Amino acid sequence: MNNLLVMKFGGTSMGSAERIRTAARIAAEQHAQRPVVCVVSAMSKVTDLLLDCMRRAEGGYEANLEADIVTLRQRHLQAMEELLPEPDREPVRAEIERLISDFERIARGILMLGVRPPRSLDEAVATGERLSALLMAAYLRTQGIASRDVNAAEVVVTDAVFGAASPLMEQTAQKAEQVLRPMLEAKTLPVVTGFNGATTDGRPTTLGRGGSDFSASILAAALNAQELWIWTDVDGIMSADPRVVTGARVLDEVTYAEAAELAYNGAKVLHPRTLAPLVERKIPVWSKNSFALDKPGTKIVPEIHDKLGPRAVTSMAKVALVSLESESAQLSGTRLMARAVGALGRCNAEVLALTCSSYRQSFCFLIRQDELDMVVEHLEEDLNIELAHGYVRPIEVDLNVGLLAVVGEGMRGTPGLAGRIFTAISRDNINIIAIAQGSSELTIAVVVRRDGLETAVRAVHRECGMSVED
Ligand code: ADP
Ligand code: ASP
Ligand code: MG
Repeated sequence: MNNLLVMKFGGTSMGSAERIRTAARIAAEQHAQRPVVCVVSAMSKVTDLLLDCMRRAEGGYEANLEADIVTLRQRHLQAMEELLPEPDREPVRAEIERLISDFERIARGILMLGVRPPRSLDEAVATGERLSALLMAAYLRTQGIASRDVNAAEVVVTDAVFGAASPLMEQTAQKAEQVLRPMLEAKTLPVVTGFNGATTDGRPTTLGRGGSDFSASILAAALNAQELWIWTDVDGIMSADPRVVTGARVLDEVTYAEAAELAYNGAKVLHPRTLAPLVERKIPVWSKNSFALDKPGTKIVPEIHDKLGPRAVTSMAKVALVSLESESAQLSGTRLMARAVGALGRCNAEVLALTCSSYRQSFCFLIRQDELDMVVEHLEEDLNIELAHGYVRPIEVDLNVGLLAVVGEGMRGTPGLAGRIFTAISRDNINIIAIAQGSSELTIAVVVRRDGLETAVRAVHRECGMSVED
């Protein structure tokens, strides 16, 4: 059964009864020709709502929590009524009520204790995907297709890093064979929840925000699928975020490496970890628009022979630049860097860019804003004596920055490209704060002032001739 197709539908592609109908039609069409596994996100904005509920619960805001739960229930009951004829509704309604009351139980526990333990958070936040999978499978059955919703906690086995878990591929493959393969053999279409999993001893986990793409690639690899199709709300992977650059162009083909660099540098269209499970088996991925079925989309492949220069420019706004500088000859810049990198390693923070100056014995690195507190805590702990004695200047944090990255396999060895990028940015009077180029030469990353970030993206896009009209 190596003609298996795994399809993932994102939040907007599952956002209403009408969108679920379209998603089901796409799935049914393929299911008529070959085995299909669907992976679904929560309906758009539902994950935000669930997280919001739990934040409010922790803060003791009972009334807001109740209002959020009413919204959650109404949205799913309404979609259910629009999707299913009267006689099919009762068991689905009961299951919606059960899932929401399980969620409410956890939220009320948080309210009572005033804390949000990561484990309960992961169990509760997957409720969005449980609800959308339930609706999609129930609707498919009304269309005469044998279908079952599957909680990925029964299939995707992960480590115990709650909120950002990593899959244990061997165990996941075994579970996928036990749980999903028999359904496929019986011509049943499984609709699996994206985003979640469970540890080997059954504790619920999630893979990080936007993680349903990753869930789909984990299952595609685990089942050795022929292809993975990721359905979203744009025509594919584009030369820039179309919300930032109006003339952004859809790329016909990109390599795994290009797509991964784009995702890691902020292109939300793909979760950064999506491609890793697919590399070994070279499973091709399509990024497609569920709102424009006639558009071909973007094919993500192991390699492309024509190296096409810079392909796309991305940006990331919620970042922080942390600077460290030695104040004493007792502590060389190199030693300070080693200590800081040790602290970053201990808290497993992701360093997006790093630059240093040997003369001033200083260096700075860029991280995601949501990792800032954790990073500063670890740095202060590790450099506690040096900071207390003034051997190191106080840690500086700049939040008024953004990251821009230009990506393309063909950039390797293109002379003058970096100069053109910097000139284009400076022409618009935007200050460049730091520059980093990975050893792969696939990406040039530039840190600029936050208020100039979008302008810089447009300037680089234009300079590199990436627009539709170029
Ligand atoms: P889904 O809910 O389907 O997972 P996302 O909202 O996570 O969808 O990702 C799709 C969004 O990614 C698009 O609406 C688009 O604004 C944004 N995006 C950012 N960079 C790019 C890019 N280079 N190409 C295409 N879309 C991009
Ligand atoms: N629903 C989850 C989120 O909003 C996962 C996903 O959509 O990919 O982060
Ligand atoms: Mg997404």
